[in-house]
Amino acid sequence: MTDVLAAFEAAKGFMPRDEGLALYAAAREAAGLGLPLLEVGTYCGRSTILLADAARAAGTVAVTVDHHRGSEEQQPGWEYHDASLVDPVTGRMDTLPTFRRTLHAAGLEEHVIAVVGRSPQVARVWRQPLGLVFVDGGHTDEHARADYEGWAPLLAEGGLLVVHDVFPDPADGGQAPYRLYRRALDRGAFREESATGSLRVLRRLPGTPVL
Ligand code: SAH
Ligand code: MG
Repeated sequence: MTDVLAAFEAAKGFMPRDEGLALYAAAREAAGLGLPLLEVGTYCGRSTILLADAARAAGTVAVTVDHHRGSEEQQPGWEYHDASLVDPVTGRMDTLPTFRRTLHAAGLEEHVIAVVGRSPQVARVWRQPLGLVFVDGGHTDEHARADYEGWAPLLAEGGLLVVHDVFPDPADGGQAPYRLYRRALDRGAFREESATGSLRVLRRLPGTPVL
């Protein structure tokens, strides 16, 4: 446990420790379903470490999806840009090499399937039911909606939907993840289990379709 948290703290990324602990707890519980744990938005692997260790402990696997070209707000000139993540050959953002180093340093490579691609395209070819879906990808409404519509239907009953960057007050941040979270609850297909910072953990209830 301490090693995992040390690796998490050492990794490049945006998630604070309290939210990481809440994600880790959700992942450990959901891994008990024996199904893969899926993340949208790998970035440099900070949160992936937590899903990977939970998957390892339960004998399942973490799947993490990212095109590795960065979100809108991570492009040059924007608030969350990190110039050290630009590929000098292509001139484009490329978080894949840093992600691989993160996972190697944490000793968790064997427990992760990394998919390089766009979330909606990957969701369309994915058939396996999931124990947990962690949405931390693009923050436009188009992206958040596609992430929900693509992945929520694949979540097993009793599985957990975890959403990052949920800000009920627009003064605190963008509203797309909040709208995704509201949609899941208002649909009646999920029950809220916990809220830590901007991280929300919802459980998929039996009987009500997610869409
Ligand atoms: N979970 C990470 C942070 C993710 S940042 C952590 O805790 O450290 C958001 C990531 O989502 C970026 O790396 C970006 O490339 C990716 N992303 C944004 N839109 C995407 C999409 N439609 N498909 C796949 N990845 C996407
Ligand atoms: Mg986030």
